[in-house]
Amino acid sequence: MKPYDQLLRDCILINNYWASADRRFPVMNPATGDLIAEVADADTNHVVEAIGAAAVAFETWGKTTARSRSLILKKWYQLVMQHTDALASLLTAEQGKPFTEAKGEVIYGASFIEWYAEECRRTYGETIPAPVAGKRLLTIKQPVGVVAAITPWNFPVAMITRKIAPALAAGCTVVLKPAEDTPLSALALASLAIEAGIPPGVLNVLPTSDAASIGKVLCTHPVVKKISFTGSTEVGKILMEQCASTVKRLSLELGGNAPVIVFDDADIMVAVKGTLASKYRNAGQTCVCANRIFVQQKIYPDFISRYREAVAELNVGNGATENVQIGPLINEAGINKVRRLLFDATEKGAEVITGGGTHPAGGLFFEPTIITNCNDSMLLSREEIFGPVSAIYVFNDEHEVVRLANKTEYGLAAYIFTQDINRAWRVAEQLEHGMIGINEGIISHAEAPFGGMKESGFGKEGGYYGIEEYLETKYLCIGGV
Ligand code: NAP
Repeated sequence: MKPYDQLLRDCILINNYWASADRRFPVMNPATGDLIAEVADADTNHVVEAIGAAAVAFETWGKTTARSRSLILKKWYQLVMQHTDALASLLTAEQGKPFTEAKGEVIYGASFIEWYAEECRRTYGETIPAPVAGKRLLTIKQPVGVVAAITPWNFPVAMITRKIAPALAAGCTVVLKPAEDTPLSALALASLAIEAGIPPGVLNVLPTSDAASIGKVLCTHPVVKKISFTGSTEVGKILMEQCASTVKRLSLELGGNAPVIVFDDADIMVAVKGTLASKYRNAGQTCVCANRIFVQQKIYPDFISRYREAVAELNVGNGATENVQIGPLINEAGINKVRRLLFDATEKGAEVITGGGTHPAGGLFFEPTIITNCNDSMLLSREEIFGPVSAIYVFNDEHEVVRLANKTEYGLAAYIFTQDINRAWRVAEQLEHGMIGINEGIISHAEAPFGGMKESGFGKEGGYYGIEEYLETKYLCIGGV
């Protein structure tokens, strides 16, 4: 008996009905290689059916009061919180992150449901002073309609609630396609949503091994009014093209290449702790992970020696066991990418000072690694590493490091460590990244806008910005008053 058995669902969810399918696909535990479940594999017929169910449900859900939606979402939030341990153990089993980190993700994921349960009661329109007599100008906010959400494997709970909570709160209905590697957390969340009273058709979930075909229907179907996607920039571009045919609204939370900048005047332990938190969370598999660590010349020797000590204390192993900070990478492709980037960097002069290879814990485990002497000719200065590898660069002055930090097509998160408030302002304003951590390595909260610039995408998740993504602002002009 596993702690998550009660929440384990292996079917497609359409109209609050758990449907089977002709085909099934396996979901494996990346730490052990064990099979967790064989999940019904949605095909394009299921997508059309789910879109139809969501369209019918929108007729009523879109017209319910904000208060009644709020009450259901609050109930969902409470259920998720009550099942934190079970959800976290399922998350660890299918994704690999350590149990404490998985628990943190469940609580963080739930915070979006709570926040939007509250925020939906404040989606105010406005009255606008008219420029001529006899007219009254105002705006109202209305749900955009049927929304499709496509989410990645690295946060199998939070990337879903960050989209679905504001969408449902706004009055939209949803068709969700979770990642093939991690559909079980999505299905477990949906089972709790049903228990909370989400009506049939309001939330539909399509686990699938055929993302491209399912994605194409979602992007081109005229009934779907918006796509919200989190994933790679490469796939984001495909979806953007597909959405053009029906001029769909889009939110794209894409890849990152986060610079961390440690200035000479930083509090060294704050910088070490913040960089470590940003780099090694989820074994380095987050879009906001430190990808390039720039350290100023004077503080460099001290930073390296303390950072190395801190990295040496990270325990690698199965996330389901106690006192583990680094779990496995998600799959073979993930570990091959890390190896390829490391090989390229060392060929071009990088020096491995800690780690550098696979970990004895098993095939998908990689040692926490630090490489120094990095430069911008290396592939890892351009691509997301998505593994537990710290790439360290040295810099001389502020002007130089701002230029280097911006030398990427990505623009998601960046981090600055300095005790000079003027410098913090100056540099934060110049960085072409959507989120800036200042003396802080963990920056995302339900209350704040998460999102990127440049090829990291557009649209915000979190805060009052997040619900706007699912609302139309309609303008009314009343004449003859
Ligand atoms: P991915 O390969 O782009 O996949 C993301 C989602 O898109 C998955 O559900 C995937 O399904 C689906 N997908 C893949 N190809 C598709 C297609 N042709 N049409 C429609 N859907 C398609 O990314 P990933 O490897 O899962 O996730 C890691 C990436 O996500 C990184 O680049 C990371 O930076 C980014 N990310 C960004 C944020 C953010 O907020 N900006 C947050 C987390 C992650 P399958 O799983 O079945 O392939």
